[in-house]
Amino acid sequence: MSISKLAGSINESPTLKLNEAAAKLREKGEAVIHLGGGEPKNKAPISAILSAAAKLNTGDIKYTPTDGIGSLKKAIVRYTEENYDKIISPDNVIVSQGAKQALFALLYTLVNPQDEVIILAPYWVSYPDMVRMVYGIPVIVTPDDGRFVPAIKDIKDAVSSYTKMIIVNSPNNPSGVIYPESFIAELVELCETKGIYLVMDDIYQKLVFEGKKSPIAYKYTKKDIESTKVITINGISKLYGMTGFRVGWVVASKEIVKVMATVQSQISSCTSVLLQAGAEGALNGLQSAVESLRLTLENNRNVMIQELKSFTGIKLIPPDGTYYCLPDFRAYSNNSVELSEFLLKKALVVTVPGREFGMEGHLRISYSTTVKDVKSGIERIKWALDPNSPNEIYIGERKIVRDWL
Ligand code: PMP
Repeated sequence: MSISKLAGSINESPTLKLNEAAAKLREKGEAVIHLGGGEPKNKAPISAILSAAAKLNTGDIKYTPTDGIGSLKKAIVRYTEENYDKIISPDNVIVSQGAKQALFALLYTLVNPQDEVIILAPYWVSYPDMVRMVYGIPVIVTPDDGRFVPAIKDIKDAVSSYTKMIIVNSPNNPSGVIYPESFIAELVELCETKGIYLVMDDIYQKLVFEGKKSPIAYKYTKKDIESTKVITINGISKLYGMTGFRVGWVVASKEIVKVMATVQSQISSCTSVLLQAGAEGALNGLQSAVESLRLTLENNRNVMIQELKSFTGIKLIPPDGTYYCLPDFRAYSNNSVELSEFLLKKALVVTVPGREFGMEGHLRISYSTTVKDVKSGIERIKWALDPNSPNEIYIGERKIVRDWL
C-alpha cells in the first residue's frame, strides 16, 4: 500500500478518536463520563424535525443546487441581516456539510501552496491540519502564559508577504473566551490594509454567558460584502445542538462563493436535501430553542466553575461562551496527553489534551453534558489527582481506593 505523503501526515481528529475510545469502554460496561465532546444533550428543535420529515414524506429526495436550496439560503440571508446587521444576497451564501466542510472548501478556494494562514492559539484542533491539506502553512500565534488572547503585536509580527488569511474563532473552542472588541477592530483594520482575509468562525456566536456579546467583525469595516476581507462561517451544529444534521455555511463575496460552489460540486455535489430542510426549519422556527440551550450551558458552566474552584492548584479563566473551558493543570502535569490518558484509565473520565489545541499543560473540559456528569466528572478528576480530596470513590457500582498519591 502506498499512501500519499500528505494523507499520511494528517492527524486524526483527537476528539473523534476519544469518542471512539469512550464508546468502546462503555460497550464493555464501564461507567465512563464524557467531558470531551462538543455536543449538547438536547433534542433538535421541533420545527427542524417537522421540516425534514415533511421533505422525506414527499419521497422526492434528489440533488439540490451545489450551493444550497434557495429557501435555506434566504433563511441564512435573514439570519445574517438580523444578527450581523449586514446586507447580503443569496449569492453571498454557500451551504456545506457542516462548518467543517465549509471551512475546507473556503481554504481550498483561497489558499495557494506555501501560502501562510495565521491561527491563534488556543485553536480548534482541525485548523492546522485543514490548512496543511490544501498545502498551506499554518502559522501559530500564541498568547503570553496565563492568557488566551494573543497580543496584536505578535500577530502583526507573524504577517509576511505569504500571509493569505487569519482565522479567528470567538467565542473560542477550546478556551471559551470572547476576543475583545478592540482586538477584532484592530484585526479588521490590519487585514483590510494588508489585503489578508479575516475568517471569523462564529459557530458559537450566540452561546454566550453573563450578557456578554462576541464582536461582529463587519462592524469595523466600511466596505460592502463584495469588497470586505471579512468572511464568516456559521452552522446549526452548535447553535441548535444539531451536530448530526451536518449543515454549515459561509458568507463571502459572490466571487468567492461561486468558486467554492465549483469546488464543492466536485467533492460532494450538495448537502442532503433532507438535512437542508431540517436546517431551514430550525432557522425559520421559534428561536427559543437557542435560548434554552444557552441557559442550560450557562448553568452547567457555573457548576463547572464552582467544582474547579475547590480543586487545589487548578487555574481557570472562566469561559465567556461555547461548550468548553480550558483549565491549567500544570500543577499536576506538563504533559496533557499523558494526563488525559491517566484520567481515562483511572477515573474513566474523557478530557481532551490541551496539546491538541496548542496549549500544553491544559485540558479541555466540556460542560455540554448533564450537571450530574459535570459534578461527578470533576469529583473523579479531583480524586485521581488532588491529595486533598477523599481517597475513596464510587465509580459505577465499584468502590475504588486511590493508592497512587
Ligand atoms: N468550528 C469550530 C470552532 C468547531 O468547534 C466546530 C465543531 N466542533 C466546527 C467548526 C465544525 O462544526 P460542524 O459540526 O458544523 O462541522
